[in-house]
Amino acid sequence: MSRFWSAVVHGLTPYVPGEQPKLDNLIKLNTNEHPYGPSPRALDAIRAATGDGLRLYPDPNADALKAVLARRHGLQPRQIFVGNGSDEVLAHAFMALLNHGRPLWFPDITYSFYPVYCGLYGIEQRAVPLTDDFSIRTEDYLPQGGERPGAIIFPNPNAPTGRLLSLAEVERIVAGNPDAVVLVDEAYIDFGGDSAITLVDKHPNLLVVHTFSKSRSLAGLRVGFAAGHADLIEGMERVKNSFNSYPLDRLALAGAVASVEDEDFFRESCRKVITTRDALVGRMRALGFEVLPSAANFVFARHPRRDGAELTAELRKRAIIVRHFKAPRIDQFMRITVGTDEQCTVLVDALKDILGS
Ligand code: PMP
Repeated sequence: MSRFWSAVVHGLTPYVPGEQPKLDNLIKLNTNEHPYGPSPRALDAIRAATGDGLRLYPDPNADALKAVLARRHGLQPRQIFVGNGSDEVLAHAFMALLNHGRPLWFPDITYSFYPVYCGLYGIEQRAVPLTDDFSIRTEDYLPQGGERPGAIIFPNPNAPTGRLLSLAEVERIVAGNPDAVVLVDEAYIDFGGDSAITLVDKHPNLLVVHTFSKSRSLAGLRVGFAAGHADLIEGMERVKNSFNSYPLDRLALAGAVASVEDEDFFRESCRKVITTRDALVGRMRALGFEVLPSAANFVFARHPRRDGAELTAELRKRAIIVRHFKAPRIDQFMRITVGTDEQCTVLVDALKDILGS
């Protein structure tokens, strides 16, 4: 513990991201990347953006990207905020919008970054338990007995469970808390849910965050965005401009714009992952796994007779990396990213071998 650290640093719990192994003969199913790669038009645009243009600063307002995103989602560009991956977008939202001196409510099993941001920004937290079947119960997020949230955040589908809350239920939470910002983190929404972006014009307290890391297969480019009322976006822009007024570099801007413009590729590549996921769920259930219903590009599964950590270690011996969380209620589970059909077959064969079935 350094005596030179400020008080807030002592209270921080470092976020532990999924392992990024350096070996390339591994089947990497641990951090929910998309197996098939980005749109070829995005790659062409990134290549075209290298060269002399890199001498120049990028557009500090990211106008071209905001314009294509706004058009795609039927919004105005001033309703869009962009950043270096959705983690950075979330960080700006925590700073600008979720810090009201009253607790931030979020599910007790959820994206592990939220408590880290709370520590960083000194935000009081309230972890709302998921139900026995690992769902979010809408009623638990409505003001109760004089208690009301300072703000609310949850992923939809939730992570790492993969369970989806219907758009109608999301809207009940948003409408039931008109004085609190409700942030819906839709990192995985393109794999089977209806986005709440369609509701932002109706609810000035709703902010929806998306990433290019999953459904657009551009995790390495680091692009994310938020959509909401222009007032929420302006708050986040103020925070951004106090840190670094260049949200994205030139390569990221070029690649992201081209990715959004290639809608057919996007839809088809999501469809492929969904088909593979549904087949994987069936094959794992046939092996005796309990697999939660997934609307994401990963499955969350446990075996009634085998330990989650042990299964994870056995898979690793067979060069397959999946994610295990050492946390209450979920330490029997593995979170497995949906890979290619071939990778999923290798995975299922390895599980059969481990289970001796
Ligand atoms: N939200 C959720 C729920 C996630 O699982 C992730 C990925 N770890 C992120 C946000 C952040 O993704 P990125 O920073 O790559 O956009």
